[in-house]
Amino acid sequence: MLERADLPERVEIKDVSPRDGLQAEPKVLSVEQRVRLVNHLTAAGVPHIEVTSFVSPKWLPQMADAEAVMAKIERKPGVTYAALVPNPKGAERALAAKPDELMVFVSASETHNYKNVHCSVSESLGGFHRICEMARGEAVPVTAVIVTSFGCPYEGRVPVHAVLDLSVRLESMGIADITLGDTVGVANPLQVAEMVHAFRLNAPMIRVGLHFHDNRGTALANLLAGILAGCTRFETALGGIGGSPFSPGASGNLATEDAVYCLSEMGIKTGIDLDRLMLASRFLEEIIGHKVPSRVYRAGGRMVPTGIEGSFDE
Ligand code: ZN
Repeated sequence: MLERADLPERVEIKDVSPRDGLQAEPKVLSVEQRVRLVNHLTAAGVPHIEVTSFVSPKWLPQMADAEAVMAKIERKPGVTYAALVPNPKGAERALAAKPDELMVFVSASETHNYKNVHCSVSESLGGFHRICEMARGEAVPVTAVIVTSFGCPYEGRVPVHAVLDLSVRLESMGIADITLGDTVGVANPLQVAEMVHAFRLNAPMIRVGLHFHDNRGTALANLLAGILAGCTRFETALGGIGGSPFSPGASGNLATEDAVYCLSEMGIKTGIDLDRLMLASRFLEEIIGHKVPSRVYRAGGRMVPTGIEGSFDE
């Protein structure tokens, strides 16, 4: 039986919509719109935000002018504003923009890493060495996302030991904050619990975060499984955006609204105000020009009587 005592007092939500989310949108937003989105998230009390990516605009026009976005956001003390970097060149640009955190990413499977960044996992780690050195010089912490941690579209199920081994290599370079991404939305709750337990047992020095996509409707169940296994750090995206750029409105990341609603109903604090968050969702829909997949945004954050007697909800 699930009891309140099994659940933590608080979990940390990092919203990745301005980067992971918008990068998958076909529409390229202006700097102003991206800045306002980040400011909306800050106003809602989101403690940790993935603001942008310092990738070449040739590859991702959605992330162009990352410097201007970083310069124009209103930074609230205590909030962590993170920037993703694909390589040392990106890290150089990012560090000049004074992020609170640099994020790097690598795939758990060789094939996905090749398809994604056109190099081997070891070559990616070579770049991280340089990035860590640069970041250390500026006293900026580096965190890593291991994408396809639970399953790869080319190699299938990824074994726990492969993710653990890669994490230990990252930790040996000084990256102790590692997020495990279910990039294609194939993870199930048992798999998540086994993964988190394996880290606690074999690599307790690593601070694990989890990042779920909802392609198959398992993301919220995976979040709960992660919490019960002892994880308290999660990445989610406003509106649940971040799906395939070819199917706008399709499920992407676990929606921040859905996570915050579920957590706060169970008495778990996130510091995020759901009503303010919904204002951010509305703004997001306006700027991207289509409906977002978040269930809580559609249904509302509160139980409201319909007032229609004798009606049936099907
Ligand atoms: Zn994602």
